[in-house]
Amino acid sequence: MPELPEMEHYKQLLEQTIKEKTITEVKILREKSINVSVSAFEKRVVSQQVTDIERKAKHLVLHLSSGDVLLLHLMLGGWMFYGLEGPDRTVQVRLSFGHHHLHFIGLRLGYLHILTESEMVQALENLGPEPLSDNFSLDMFIEKMHRKRGKLKTALVDQQFLSGIGNRYSDEICWQAQVLPTRSVNELTKIEMTNIFGAIRTILPKAIKLGGYMNEKFMKDDRITGGYLPHFHVYKQEGEACPRCSHPIRRSEISSRKTFYCSNCQY
Ligand SMILES: [Zn+2]
Repeated sequence: MPELPEMEHYKQLLEQTIKEKTITEVKILREKSINVSVSAFEKRVVSQQVTDIERKAKHLVLHLSSGDVLLLHLMLGGWMFYGLEGPDRTVQVRLSFGHHHLHFIGLRLGYLHILTESEMVQALENLGPEPLSDNFSLDMFIEKMHRKRGKLKTALVDQQFLSGIGNRYSDEICWQAQVLPTRSVNELTKIEMTNIFGAIRTILPKAIKLGGYMNEKFMKDDRITGGYLPHFHVYKQEGEACPRCSHPIRRSEISSRKTFYCSNCQY
C-alpha cells in the first residue's frame, strides 16, 4: 500500500499536472469506487477547477472550486497514470482535463469520494499527527510512546498513533534505528525512542525526494517515480545480507503483518 512518501510524491506530480486545471469529463467504470451515484458525481465534479491538492496521512484531498473535495485513498494495489492515453490496464475512474486524462487503476479497496469540506474533516478526524510536521517534536513523540502499549511495529503502523507510516517504512525505520520491531513500546529507552524519531525524520524525506517506491510510472517519460525501490534495506530482503552487518535478514509476522529485520544488529 502506498505510504506517506508515495502519496506526497503523487501530490507533487498532481500539482505539476492538474492543479488549477478544470475537470472537463468524468468516466466511472467501477461504481463502487465512488460514494454517490454516477450522475450525482458528474454533477458535482465536471466543470470544477482543482484549486489545491493536500496530502493527509495516506490520503490525497483534491480541493474543487465549488468548495467540495475529492478524497482519494489508493489502498492496496491502487495507482494513478496521467497522459493523453491510458495505460494498458483496467481503469476504474478517469478524470479528464481537456485532452489529458488522470486514470485511477487498481482501486479494489481504494476509492475516490466526493465530499463537502466538513465531511472530509470528519472522515479524517481520527488520524494521528503527521510525523514530518513542524509541530510534531521529539518530546511529543516520546510522550505519545510513553502512553502507547504493544509492539513497536504495531505502534508505528497505527494510523491513530502516527499518520502515514505503513508496513514497508516501519521496517526500514526500525532497521535504521537498530531497534527490533518486536520490542514492546513500554520497554524502549529514551535513546532508542530518539533514534526511532530520527529514523522517521531521515527515511521519509529521503523516500519522498527519490520518488517513493511505486513500480508504476505516473506519466510516459516519468523517470522519478519508484526511485526509492533500490534503497530498501530490510523490507522483502529475507535471506539477503544485512547492509550493516552482513547477517541474513529475517522475516516474521507481528499481528499478521510481514516484518523484516536483522536479528544481529537490531536490539
Ligand atoms: Zn544487521
